[in-house]
Amino acid sequence: IKLYELRPDEQAAFSRAAAALPDGYSIDAVAEPLSADNIDALAGYEAIVITNKSLLTADIVARLQQLGVRYVSSRCVGFNHIDLPAVKAAGIRVCNTTYPPYGVAEFAIMLMLMALRKCKPAIWRMQVNDYSLEGLLGRELRTMTVGVMGTGHIGRAVIDYLGGFGCKILAYDPYPAQDLAAREGVEYVGLDDLYRDSDLITIHVPLMDSTRNIIDAGAIAKMKDGVVLINVSRGELVDTDALIDAVESEKMGALAMDVFEDEGGIYHENRMNDIISNRKMAYLRQFPNVLLTNHIAFYTDVDVDSMVEDGIANIPAMVEG
Ligand code: NAD
Repeated sequence: IKLYELRPDEQAAFSRAAAALPDGYSIDAVAEPLSADNIDALAGYEAIVITNKSLLTADIVARLQQLGVRYVSSRCVGFNHIDLPAVKAAGIRVCNTTYPPYGVAEFAIMLMLMALRKCKPAIWRMQVNDYSLEGLLGRELRTMTVGVMGTGHIGRAVIDYLGGFGCKILAYDPYPAQDLAAREGVEYVGLDDLYRDSDLITIHVPLMDSTRNIIDAGAIAKMKDGVVLINVSRGELVDTDALIDAVESEKMGALAMDVFEDEGGIYHENRMNDIISNRKMAYLRQFPNVLLTNHIAFYTDVDVDSMVEDGIANIPAMVEG
């Protein structure tokens, strides 16, 4: 097995996972992504572990097939970097990894609290010896109605954590979970009702044709004045122009986003500068009530360890069927 793109923060998990491989398997790692430049070094390997920085184009897949590579484990969630029809035609087996939802859920809760307690201007002011309270009046989550869009893995974890704050929770999901529906303090409602009654809305919906730009000007118009919006899901779920209008007009009280339009659904460290310095984001990030983070909700010790360890363990799992 060869693992590509090993980062220093993954080294400990790599060593643990390597030691846990069954007899007959061996693994080594390189820091670079797999590419046409280094693919010939794969001679003699049967399996690779990659992330979304290794682009498995049809050409690369054809070369993998010639070299006898039969298993690809992608240690991230999406498959956008892999030409799946080419891989299938080449008889190469592929799998991805998922990771626990708690890191992302905690991040969403953190953004809620930071937005409600005006942490961005508060931290700025400390840097310049401005100790005034003006404009920093916070709001308490406990007193609010929070709308959770999407009650899958992450939405459910967010609801679990919100339970500790004692706020009222409205949920929307085309497939409501029976156990959540029965929970005190949680009520499934229609989307329009969620928009109308929520003081804060947090989005945990996957990106699909039906959810692209689900938060557009029409949706925002249905929300409460001063609504707080949190998006740690996918940038394309929101219409960024509509968000700019809502922040400028103060219809939206605060906005926190970890994900951006044009990311293509995946995190690319080297593309972030283009994404953030585009006209819209460069404008939005100036507002004291707009918090932007660099697609890091998933980036915790637990999640990194889990992606590396599961990504490696998936190779013998695939081999053994
Ligand atoms: P999931 O598939 O477990 O849950 C998604 C839920 O959304 C499902 O219950 C589904 O029924 C529901 N849903 C579908 N269409 C809907 C709609 N129109 N309105 C409301 N709900 C709808 O997914 P998850 O693991 O909870 O992930 C949620 C999102 O978080 C994904 O978009 C994922 O890409 C994103 N994510 C972001 C990060 C990050 O680092 N920022 C990390 C992991 C995941």
